[in-house]
Amino acid sequence: RVSDGTVRIAVIGLGWWTVDQAIPAIGASELCETTVTVSSTSEKAKRVAAGVETATHGLSYDEFHAGEAADAYDAVYICSPNALHLPYARTAAELGKAVLCEKPIEASSERGQAMVDACDEAGVPLIVGYRMHTEPAIRRARKLIRDGVIGDPVHAIGTNSQAMLELISDPNQWRLDPELAGPGATVTDIGIYPLNTCRFLLDSDPVAAQAFMQSSHDAFEQVPDEHASFMVEFDDGTYLAATASQNAQATTSLRIVGTKGEILVEPAFHMETEIRVTRGDVSVTLDTPQVNQMTELFDYAADRILTDAPIGPDGEHGVLDMRLIEAIYEAGESGRAVTL
Ligand code: NDP
Repeated sequence: RVSDGTVRIAVIGLGWWTVDQAIPAIGASELCETTVTVSSTSEKAKRVAAGVETATHGLSYDEFHAGEAADAYDAVYICSPNALHLPYARTAAELGKAVLCEKPIEASSERGQAMVDACDEAGVPLIVGYRMHTEPAIRRARKLIRDGVIGDPVHAIGTNSQAMLELISDPNQWRLDPELAGPGATVTDIGIYPLNTCRFLLDSDPVAAQAFMQSSHDAFEQVPDEHASFMVEFDDGTYLAATASQNAQATTSLRIVGTKGEILVEPAFHMETEIRVTRGDVSVTLDTPQVNQMTELFDYAADRILTDAPIGPDGEHGVLDMRLIEAIYEAGESGRAVTL
C-alpha cells in the first residue's frame, strides 16, 4: 500500500481546521505528506494545493468519489461536517485507502458503525483523530495512573468551554444544523474531549449517563445544548462529572482523583496541555515535551498504517463514544439516567 515509508494523504474538506492546522501539521510530520486536496470545487482544491509544496492534485468531491488521482495518495484525512464523514470514508475504503477521520466518528453511532463495517469489509485501517491520545502529557498521565501513583481512581471532573457565539451564529455554521452535526452543538463537538480523554486516562468504558442541558440564546434554538452538564459512569466503578459550553469563557481542565492523589490536566484540550500530580501534600507540575498535537496524531496514524500495529482510537472506539453521546442527549431530554 505504501511504497517508500511515507504515507501520502488526501485531505478532504478544506475548512479552517484542515487549512490552518492539519495541512501545516502534516508538513511538519516525519511520516506523512499532503499530496491531494479535496473540496467542494476543483478550483478551490487546486488553489489550496498550489500552496502546499508536496501536493500534486486538487479534486472536487465528485472527482474524488469517481476515483480520480487514486494513485496519488495512500490514506485520507476526513475533516468535513460530522454527518459527511461516512460517504468519504466509504469511497476511500472502496479505493483501498486507509482512513483517518476527525472526531466525532460520525453524526450517529449507526452511521459510525457503517463506517467501521465499510473499512472492515475493504480491509483498510480506520483511525479516529483523537489528538489527546497522542499528546505526551496525557500519555504520561495515563501511565502514572496505571502505575498507581494516585492510588485507585475514584472520580473525575472535567470542563471544556469556548466563547463561540459569534462564530457559531453564522447561519452557514453546520454545528447548529442537526442534519450535519448530529444530536447537538456542544457535547458532540467539545464535550467529547473530557469524555474521551477521561475514558483514555482511566482505560475504562462508559456504562451509563445522566445529563442536564439548556439553550437560552436564540442562536442555539435548533439544538438542546448551548450549555451542558453530564455525568458518566465507567465500567471500573469511577464517575466523570463534566461541563461543556459553546457560549462561555474558554476554559479547559480534567481532574482525575484517586484514593491517594490526583492528576490535574490544565490547560487540557485547546492544543496546549499540562499536568500537575498531587499526592498527599506534595504537588508537582511535570515537564512534558511541548508538541504540535496534530503532527503527533498524523505521525501516529502513519505509523499504524505502515506497521499494522493495533490502533488505539479505532472505529469501534469512536462508535462507543457516539453511543455515549446519544445516551447523554437522551438523558438530557428525559431527565433520567440512561444505560448504554
Ligand atoms: P469548517 O466548517 O471550518 O469546515 C468544514 C469544511 O467541510 C468546509 O469548509 C467545506 O470545505 C466542507 N464541507 C463539505 N460539505 C459541507 C457542508 N454541507 N457544509 C459545510 N461544510 C461542508 O469545520 P471544521 O473544520 O471546524 O470541522 C470539520 C471537522 O473537524 C468536524 O468533524 C469537527 O468535529 C472536526 N474538528 C476537529 C478539531 C480537533 O481539535 N480535532 C477542531 C475542529 C474541528 P470545502 O469548502 O473544501 O468543501
